[in-house]
Amino acid sequence: MFAQASRWMFWLPLTMTGLALGEEGRLERFEFAETHMGSQFKVVLYTLDEPTARRASRAAFARIAALDATLSDYRPDSELSRLCDQAGGPPVPVGKDLFDLLARSKTMYERSGGAFDVTIAPVGRLWRRARRDRKLPDPELLAKARALVGSDRMRLDAEARTVQLLQPGMKIDLGAIAKGYASDEAVQVLKEEGVPRALVAGSGDIVVGDPPPGALGWTIGIAPLDDPAAPPTKFLRVRNAAVSTSGDAARFVEIGGTRYSHIIDPKTGLGMVEHAGVTVIAPDGATADALDTTVYLLGPEKGIALVESFGASVLIVRDNGRGRQVFESRGIKPYLTSGEKSAETLRP
Ligand code: AMP
Ligand code: MG
Repeated sequence: MFAQASRWMFWLPLTMTGLALGEEGRLERFEFAETHMGSQFKVVLYTLDEPTARRASRAAFARIAALDATLSDYRPDSELSRLCDQAGGPPVPVGKDLFDLLARSKTMYERSGGAFDVTIAPVGRLWRRARRDRKLPDPELLAKARALVGSDRMRLDAEARTVQLLQPGMKIDLGAIAKGYASDEAVQVLKEEGVPRALVAGSGDIVVGDPPPGALGWTIGIAPLDDPAAPPTKFLRVRNAAVSTSGDAARFVEIGGTRYSHIIDPKTGLGMVEHAGVTVIAPDGATADALDTTVYLLGPEKGIALVESFGASVLIVRDNGRGRQVFESRGIKPYLTSGEKSAETLRP
């Protein structure tokens, strides 16, 4: 009786991975990288042979490329840009990916009290120029751009699958959520290709499937706040989940002795000056990605409450000139683990 039970326990994981007895030990690690959405996307996977690994990763990258072509605010021909060109007009029918992302974005807008706002784009463009020229945006242009911001003027109709931007000139930037969504979709494609043991990382937005053979999860290192290139100091172990990191560490501009982040406070139209790194663990990448940006905007107290309301977990490291502070949500502890050589490092 007991022997039979233990045989079942042994068989079950093998059946779940679709592998025959003994094949698990022959899985090999493969790694691929391509640039999409202005970032490096990395695919790490375990398969029995290289042709399978290549075929699966090609399919995953193709899905990411297709999402980039749909969701980019840089490309004038993307579905997103064409939607924005019709701002001020009637409702516009859109595809499922764009609708889903805008619906999630509007939910985050509402639940964050307006801090997460994808209609920030007109202001964001001025700050992209500011980063290039190292000069604050012109106050008059900034005021005009700010008047176009507000997701309450983005009307969504789920039944008709249409989007209406109520004011001419409104623009949308999905930079805070699209990479997490793309990583989700890529992991899904890998699963459909028969490769469930996989990790996809769109720079700091990571989604993982089943763990590497013999491991309880994927170990992901978080780089220290002040040196994204340095070896990680904290490690998380996750499986079938998403980990996203945001903050001011990698993209910012220093003007007149003040450091402005690429993340903009919609209330002021200014780049955030908070010096912090926010790492969120959530069931899916789009949620983790939207949440990391939102927590950075809201700060630890409101941010942790919001994360917990999504059933997610967060780790915040902050240094506002009075020394380093670490904030954790209650759920983070089981994910924290000691360092491992093979850790994938998050680079925000
Ligand atoms: P992440 O690296 O995920 O935090 O996303 C940062 C990106 O989000 C920026 O580069 C902008 O494209 C976009 N963004 C900036 N401010 C906001 C905001 N308040 N709400 C939503 N997206 C924003
Ligand atoms: Mg984000």
